[in-house]
Amino acid sequence: MSLKFPPSDDLRRLLRFEPDNGAIWLGDRRMVLMHTKALTALRQDLITSVGTEHARRILTRMGYSAGMCDAEYARRTRPDMTLNECFLVGPQLFMLEGAAHVTPIKLVFDIQAGQFYGEFSWDHSWEAYSHQQKYGLNTDPACWTLLGYASGYTSAFMGRLILFKETMCAACGAEHCQIVGRPIEEWPDGDAHRVYFNDDSLMEKMEALQSQVDALKSTLEPANQCSQLIGNSTAFRKAYTLMQKVAQTQATVLLTGDTGVGKERFARALHELSSRSDRPFVAVNCAALPSELVEAELFGVEKGAYTGAHTLRIGRFERADGGTLLLDEIGDLPLAAQAKLLRVLQEGEIERVGGETTRKVNVRLVAATNVDLHQAVLAGRFRADLLYRLNVYPICIPPLRERKSDIEPLAQGMLARFCALHNKRVLGFEERALKALLQHDWPGNIRELENLVERGVILAPQSGKVELEHLFPRQPDSVQTGLDAHGHLAKLPSTHDDDLCARILDSGSSLEEIDSLVLDHAVSRAGGNLSEAARLLGMTRPQLAYRLKHRNVHGVSAPATDLPPSIPI
Ligand SMILES: [Zn+2]
Repeated sequence: MSLKFPPSDDLRRLLRFEPDNGAIWLGDRRMVLMHTKALTALRQDLITSVGTEHARRILTRMGYSAGMCDAEYARRTRPDMTLNECFLVGPQLFMLEGAAHVTPIKLVFDIQAGQFYGEFSWDHSWEAYSHQQKYGLNTDPACWTLLGYASGYTSAFMGRLILFKETMCAACGAEHCQIVGRPIEEWPDGDAHRVYFNDDSLMEKMEALQSQVDALKSTLEPANQCSQLIGNSTAFRKAYTLMQKVAQTQATVLLTGDTGVGKERFARALHELSSRSDRPFVAVNCAALPSELVEAELFGVEKGAYTGAHTLRIGRFERADGGTLLLDEIGDLPLAAQAKLLRVLQEGEIERVGGETTRKVNVRLVAATNVDLHQAVLAGRFRADLLYRLNVYPICIPPLRERKSDIEPLAQGMLARFCALHNKRVLGFEERALKALLQHDWPGNIRELENLVERGVILAPQSGKVELEHLFPRQPDSVQTGLDAHGHLAKLPSTHDDDLCARILDSGSSLEEIDSLVLDHAVSRAGGNLSEAARLLGMTRPQLAYRLKHRNVHGVSAPATDLPPSIPI
């Protein structure tokens, strides 16, 4: 077989520039002229963002698809020539498209018999050059797009997957690149290369990894949370004792109580006290899951169960196998998922979404809710049979207002934790602050206390104490709660507001005048600095400037300020 290229006039004729139409054509396919610099930047971005292996796969696939397109021209352009000359359309188009200069070394193939062996040398590969420019001398060949092209072209020509590999590459310091192509099965490491031709979603893999990480985190996170179940009040001790008694059994536990009372912590403590403590603890907040994903999250998804389910996803039940699964906010579980959950509880088996077989799981279930499930049953939002299954051993966790004696030790414990977290040294609570904590009625329970203490730790001075103002920052000027004459925390704001309003009404001033007075007051308190005054008033500087300029109140003159002559609105 002759390895000389036939004249390439026929291929050049395919290439048409239509600058007036803004188009370039190769036969009937639209092309585009690109800067190798831009491609180099794309390569680099890919390598940085998804790593070398994925970048290589993406670029190989791009080249592969270009090669497949060009293979269509092989027979079309040279119907009367030898098969060898037909094949050489590929390497010749490759040169015409500016990829590299090709020298055929050996080419033997038999389409019917599926045999192929090709060896070519490439000079001036743009890709080797570009890679070397960015990364210097490489240890591995780098002409990914070009190899993809050679594989794509030859595979389409031969009707079977032909894998080209570089035996040397200019990016590694060789004088030129050299490639060899054979059917993928004939390469000893062929299978390892299939990954470069497969469509594969990195996003899916990342999502699957993310949910694994979440599950692991919820298993590992606060190993010391059990010790953080602080409390000595009667109400707390009652709940704690109930929990201790049931921990060693396998019974399903239903935790009830208001929002923020610490149901997840109780569930963790239950897990730690149980014989399953060395197995995973997995928590799921049913209210946080979109209803269409609940079943997939809980029971997993079989590969190909629906469009986009490219990989198998293990559900939370399987992740918690051998351990404990907390279903928080179970009252929000959609009815369809409730039916499936009921079956899991009855059979001890799960079925992945899109799956046909059932799998045994050994999971201790803890359910938690802040709604009255009996009411939910009456309202038709919750299955009665599921409630009976869950309600084997209910534990009601008391709200913080019913365990006032626990507030101080809880707050001290949190203070120590947040000091460590925020790298601060805070010596404790100042007396008024502590009093305020004891007086508050805690509608948000432990979570609210936690938020307040964290805020206090952040605001308190280094080596100082948390003061009342750090816990209730808008105190005592304008806000909801304050200390009354006896030093008790009280709802001062309304009386304060009422008082202020009464005085304003008694003054006989118009609303505009009051408005204007407040503006002036703020400007004067800020020493004439409009930005500062605007901050005091909770508005932007342009808004304040506009109001100062456009007010129309008799007897009130604009104060001397740093007001600009023209005011942006
Ligand atoms: Zn190369």
